[in-house]
Amino acid sequence: MHVTLLPAFSDNYLFALRCGSGIAVVDPGDADVIEHHLKDTGQALSAILITHHHPDHIGGMARLAARWPDARRIGPDDARIPSLTEVVTDGNRVTLDGDCVFEVMATPGHTRTHVVYHGDGQVFCGDVLFSLGCGRVFEGSADEMLASLDRLAALPSDTRVYCAHEYTLRNAGFALAVDPGNQDLQQRVADVRALRDEHQPSIPTDIGSELRCNPFLRCDDPQVKAAASIHAACELQTRSEVFATLRAWKNLC
Ligand code: ZN
Ligand code: FE
Repeated sequence: MHVTLLPAFSDNYLFALRCGSGIAVVDPGDADVIEHHLKDTGQALSAILITHHHPDHIGGMARLAARWPDARRIGPDDARIPSLTEVVTDGNRVTLDGDCVFEVMATPGHTRTHVVYHGDGQVFCGDVLFSLGCGRVFEGSADEMLASLDRLAALPSDTRVYCAHEYTLRNAGFALAVDPGNQDLQQRVADVRALRDEHQPSIPTDIGSELRCNPFLRCDDPQVKAAASIHAACELQTRSEVFATLRAWKNLC
């Protein structure tokens, strides 16, 4: 499955997947960006996959649906996502043209109905997991978000992670503040700086790298736990407490 990153707005990535004879897109926040890509490649739009209802992820849907009425429109059951042709839920399998097959995983926390699409060694994870960070918890609890991140963290370590925003450098300062002695993190930040200096994306990341570097996936690491405890001014016991503290702390940054 060939994936093209399409930058949109200030820091979003929309994703175009070559599936059989058509193109499937993930989270088409901006129809213009998708239309340009289809024109450039001379391909037809065959499917739209939606992770969650936020405008930067669904904003282009209506225009794309009008222009490509035969394209499948796939997403979670949520009245805030208009005009789906197929609703998916945890454990569903989505088979697109060619060899594009995805398993749907429910990942609530950022939004109540957020899903991710996992297949062929990659995961399109919307706003749940970011490189060196995670999404804000807008709907649901910190525990729900942690459970969603735990499911992503349990994917094979070489799984390529397609986050929907280029937030890595912005997240790096917080990650280094929490986990300053982490040499894998220091190296990752240096690598990302070099990429961004060349205007290259830091996405995809992979699960193994995030397990080594991302403080939100390291809530049971002694250093991360200690840093969160200092911030909370009390001895945190559980990884749930550590996660909630990190998320609230980062919200202040
Ligand atoms: Zn979002
Ligand atoms: Fe977003």
